[in-house]
Amino acid sequence: MKNLLFDYHLHSLHSPDGSMTIDTIVKRAQELGLAEICITDHVEVDNSFGAEWQTSKEQVKVQLDELNRFKEQSNGYVKKGVELAFPDNDPGTVEDMRELVNPGDYDYSIASLHQYKGDSPFSGTFFDEHTLPEAAATYVKWINERIREFPLDYFDCVGHIDFVVKGPHGIEDPSLSLTYFEEELRELFRYLIDNGKTFEVNTSAYKSLPGKKVHGLDWLTLFAEMGGEFVVIGSDAHKEEYIGYRLDDALALVQEAGIPYVATFDKHQPVLHKVK
Ligand SMILES: [Zn+2]
Ligand SMILES: [Zn+2]
Repeated sequence: MKNLLFDYHLHSLHSPDGSMTIDTIVKRAQELGLAEICITDHVEVDNSFGAEWQTSKEQVKVQLDELNRFKEQSNGYVKKGVELAFPDNDPGTVEDMRELVNPGDYDYSIASLHQYKGDSPFSGTFFDEHTLPEAAATYVKWINERIREFPLDYFDCVGHIDFVVKGPHGIEDPSLSLTYFEEELRELFRYLIDNGKTFEVNTSAYKSLPGKKVHGLDWLTLFAEMGGEFVVIGSDAHKEEYIGYRLDDALALVQEAGIPYVATFDKHQPVLHKVK
């Protein structure tokens, strides 16, 4: 059977919260037998998480030089990605983002929402004010409001729609049921499908779930029913031990949901791989 283990969300030391060299990532991915990887370091246009989070032009250049070198050295095993945050605070407008990055420099771009109106969905106040179902719905609702400003040529995929689960919420089983945010997800999926985009199955939230649990079968099934043909899978690893984390579980979920393909990307063109 064809190897479909693609890790399309990985952070190197060129992310403010990363520590691995790209060399370490590539070696580990090859040891694990992953079929292809994409390095997706953070690019953020605002500084509400601190000055070190506001990516400079120089940092973008350093990231890109490394990505170009590794893509070439590895004959395309390593793809050039970026995790581009939704502009949220001043400074941090779409114009600032356009100034900072050129999507043509990358193979793949994830649009990720990391902030909720200047606050973090990981903060205590966010969960003081929202139950888990409300947090999930509020987060995706905010993506829906903001995504129409996000230029279509600047992203291929929306990152971690279960982002709220990744934070320190203290909930024993924070698995997200479709019933928490069906209306919001329908709106998001409609927009993505109509524009040839997709969303990501991000396996890092599985760490917060008890035992070997996964979540998302119901949302992935909805995406398939609405005509969604492909998704992208990534671990969001910032540490070596999480490279390739539970990609096989995510793949099984995609297959069970009836989504026909997982995608990899080259120069923003999706390459579709049949899941059965
Ligand atoms: Zn992210
Ligand atoms: Zn990430």
